[in-house]
Amino acid sequence: MPRMPFALLCLLLSAPAFAHPPVVAVDVGHTLAAPGATSARGRSEFDFNRDLAREVAAALIARGIAAHLVNVDGQIASLRDRPKAVPEADFFLSIHHDSVSEHELTPWTWQGTAQSYSDAYAGHSLFVSQNNPAPAASLTCASAIGARLQRMGFVPTDKNARRRAWADRANTVHWYDNLIVLYRTTKPAVLFEAGVIKHRDEELLLRDPVRQRRMADGIATGVAACLQVMPSAGSAR
Ligand SMILES: [Zn+2]
Repeated sequence: MPRMPFALLCLLLSAPAFAHPPVVAVDVGHTLAAPGATSARGRSEFDFNRDLAREVAAALIARGIAAHLVNVDGQIASLRDRPKAVPEADFFLSIHHDSVSEHELTPWTWQGTAQSYSDAYAGHSLFVSQNNPAPAASLTCASAIGARLQRMGFVPTDKNARRRAWADRANTVHWYDNLIVLYRTTKPAVLFEAGVIKHRDEELLLRDPVRQRRMADGIATGVAACLQVMPSAGSAR
């Protein structure tokens, strides 16, 4: 029986998708002390971010990707420290939920508490930075995530086009060059806004665990696709 070249044997025995598992850092946006926006019903953005980030990490792991949650305890206040939490990561994904400006809000009462809402905008959007060391790879990943979500029926928002230039309009990706978490890193990075938690109907959708899992599945499919074409990801280490 002829001897099989060692490299070929390795290829045949490896997982079909990646020779070595790529590593992805999934960042929970904001902190317990400064939890970001507040939903129409008074829930903190940090809680939304943590729920979805956990689902995204699980969906990545199910695809053979080594996903590491960053700031799941809500204690990493420094945005510079977040990419450093997983130095071996091939890709950094920060999970957020969107809001609107103060002047766009309408007061209402929810279960006896004074809250505020805006039903003007709903939907997800994505951000990349031209100051990231790998802006093209970052954009490829953001576009892949956005394309997959829209193909699954998730409807994006153009609300952020009012202030942020399009990087990929078809897939709802914007340039946001000075976001520290996107450029104080050595790896491609994307910030994902899952939806507008000040929108009363969308808030309920964003709290639905079944929908969270479905959205996470779409995000993970997009990440897996972009890692396949990222030359450094999953290479021998
Ligand atoms: Zn946020």
